[in-house]
Amino acid sequence: MLLSNSFIPVLKNNPSEAKIKSHQLMLRVGMIKQASAGIYSWLPLGFKVMKKIENIVRQEQNKIGAQEILMPTIQSSEIWKESGRYEDYGEEMLRITDRQNREMLYGPTNEEQVTEIFRSSIKSYKSLPQLLYHIQWKFRDEIRPRFGIMRGREFYMKDAYSFDISDDEALYSYNKFFLSYLRTFKKLSLTAIPMAADTGPIGGNLSHEFIILAETGESKIFTDKRIFELNSDDTNLEKKSLDNMRKKYEQYYAVTDEKFNKEKFEKIVLEKNRLITKGIEVGHIFYFGDKYSKAMGASVDLPGGKKDFVKMGSYGIGVSRLVGAIIEAKYDEKNEIMKWPLSVAPYDIAIIPMINKNDNSALDKANNINEELIKNNIDTIIDDTDENFSSKIKKMNLIGAPYQIIIGKKNDGDLLEFKETGGETQNLPLNKIIEIITKQKNSI
Ligand code: ATP
Ligand code: MG
Repeated sequence: MLLSNSFIPVLKNNPSEAKIKSHQLMLRVGMIKQASAGIYSWLPLGFKVMKKIENIVRQEQNKIGAQEILMPTIQSSEIWKESGRYEDYGEEMLRITDRQNREMLYGPTNEEQVTEIFRSSIKSYKSLPQLLYHIQWKFRDEIRPRFGIMRGREFYMKDAYSFDISDDEALYSYNKFFLSYLRTFKKLSLTAIPMAADTGPIGGNLSHEFIILAETGESKIFTDKRIFELNSDDTNLEKKSLDNMRKKYEQYYAVTDEKFNKEKFEKIVLEKNRLITKGIEVGHIFYFGDKYSKAMGASVDLPGGKKDFVKMGSYGIGVSRLVGAIIEAKYDEKNEIMKWPLSVAPYDIAIIPMINKNDNSALDKANNINEELIKNNIDTIIDDTDENFSSKIKKMNLIGAPYQIIIGKKNDGDLLEFKETGGETQNLPLNKIIEIITKQKNSI
């Protein structure tokens, strides 16, 4: 992609309305454009990153056997009256009346809609478990939308729902999602810690929030530091393996302020292991048994001829919030350098030729390199403008392709100035550069 043809409206300075660095950067490089309070258009750069995140989320859902569906954004109030949440949900729900005077709403979440789908088709325990998910826009009329897409009113979420025959089976499903979340965030190159959470308006008895550390986060967190050393690399999808994985995480104290108990924290966690800081909630999972299935009559035939209500859980990931969360984790604000993880980067590499008025050789060279990179499935952006060199570098540092090739005045010869964005320059031939990036991509 040539920068001169792209729709990447970069601003010279930080927009004053943005209080945190993700919001600043997203406006600065034109990833989003505010439409009204808490509602945004996604411009090419932002959209590209969000779609890549969405795809990683999708792959990891599919890997645990979840099936993708797509439910509508607009729902009927009827099902919400059945569950009792039409009244309970309060002012965050955007209520709409259609021309027939029917009460509709813009879905803030989909427990009711998915339970309605389930109950009309699945009648026997033989069809269980079912794991269904969708990736769809949600609307919540947040009282204080802020920090750009971090707390929007309209936002993009992956929400999944599990249906099982017993508590035991349902916890097995819960643990599958637990693992899939750890894997998803790892692929996004984030360290997200599962923390015991309150179940809030969703209801139920077991819940974890997945939190990444960030000074600008809205959640206050209290943890045993050692939880950060854990990983799920040796976990497979067998029941026992998943049980062990969750136990491994749950052995360490890790809660947000809603569940915080000072006495307990100080008793359980040695002083040297205590960490009190802030974080961003990027995912939230719940087990709530038959709360919705009972209220909405979603039952299945059991082996002996009896019937029982299915046991359900729900599992959300803030796909649009993740764009901001990754920036909070990766953006070097002081030096104005963004380096996207390769798994979600809008471009793999930026080519920055220094262009003189009467000499096209650097641009020609950039185009040749580009062709070679494209052949190797490496996505590039070339700054083909005639701006001065330092503002070109500045701009590309903000756009944040993880690698850069710089073509300066002396550009003959086979060695290229190559670097990881923000890192040291190395002189390497093109084939070596292709090898480095390809290897990195294959390891995602
Ligand atoms: P929060 O405590 O941040 O309001 P929540 O507990 O209401 O989150 P869930 O209903 O569990 O959130 O939604 C699942 C995920 O959707 C959250 O973990 C978060 O990443 C994301 N999310 C929730 N509300 C918003 C919002 N207003 N804007 C952007 N993302 C959101
Ligand atoms: Mg909320």
